Amino acid sequence: MIQRTALTADLDRLLEAARFRDYGPNGLQVEGRPEIRRLATSATASLAACRAAALAGADALLVHHGLLWGRCEPITGPLRARLGVLLRAEMSLLAYHLPLDAHPELGNNAVALGRLGAVAEGAFAEHRGALIGRLGTLPATEDPLAFGRRLEVVFQHPVLHCPGSSSAIRRIGVVTGGGQGHLLEAAAAGCDALVTGEASEQSWHEAAESGCHLFACGHHATEDLAVHALGALVGERHGLIHLPLHLPNPV
Ligand SMILES: [Zn+2]
Repeated sequence: MIQRTALTADLDRLLEAARFRDYGPNGLQVEGRPEIRRLATSATASLAACRAAALAGADALLVHHGLLWGRCEPITGPLRARLGVLLRAEMSLLAYHLPLDAHPELGNNAVALGRLGAVAEGAFAEHRGALIGRLGTLPATEDPLAFGRRLEVVFQHPVLHCPGSSSAIRRIGVVTGGGQGHLLEAAAAGCDALVTGEASEQSWHEAAESGCHLFACGHHATEDLAVHALGALVGERHGLIHLPLHLPNPV
C-alpha cells in the first residue's frame, strides 16, 4: 500500500514529469481515495478502461493518454461519462504523456526499441522542446519486407509500410503513436526506417523522397507496452496489486 501523494511523487520523479511542456497536466489528473493498493494500467483513459478498472476494484488508473489536454472544456459527453466512473469509484487517474514517450528506459519508444532487439543509441524527434524518440541499431541488417512482418508479430498488429530507398534496414528510429511527422528527422539522423504508430497521406511521399522507410504499426498497439511495464515496476516497488488492462483498439 502507498499513499496517493507518494505514488504520484514517485512517478513524477521517475519520469521527470516537470521537464516537459505537455498539452495537458502530467501526474495526478483526478483525485481519488488517499491510499492505493490496486493499480490498474491502460494506454488510454477510455470509458471502457475506467469501467474495467472500477470493476477490478482499482484505487488508481495509470495511463499514457489521460483526460485533460490543456483545454478548458465543459464536462459533457464522453468526458462526463469517464469522469463519472472515476469519481463514483473514488479512483485516481494518473496520466503521463510526453514523459512516458521520452524516458530512455521506461518510455514507449525505449520499450518498443527493446522489443525489436535493437541496441539503443540515443534520442531524436523534437516535440515541444524535448527529444521524445529513440534511435537504435538492429543486431543484423533486415530486408524491409521481413522487418515489416517481424513488426506485425512484435506489435500484434497489421503494419502499413511506406517504402524508402534502402534495401536493408539496420539503423532505426522509433516514435510510437502519432509519430509520423518525425520521418524527416529520422532520415536526417541516418535512419533506414522510422517505426511509428500511424501514417499520413504525405508519409508515403516523404518516405520515398527521403529514402527512409516508414512502418505504421498502430497507435494503440505501439503504446500498449510501456505503461504496463511501468505499472509492474512501481507495483513491485510499493507492494501493490498491478492490474494491466489490454483493451482492444485496432487504430
Ligand atoms: Zn499516443
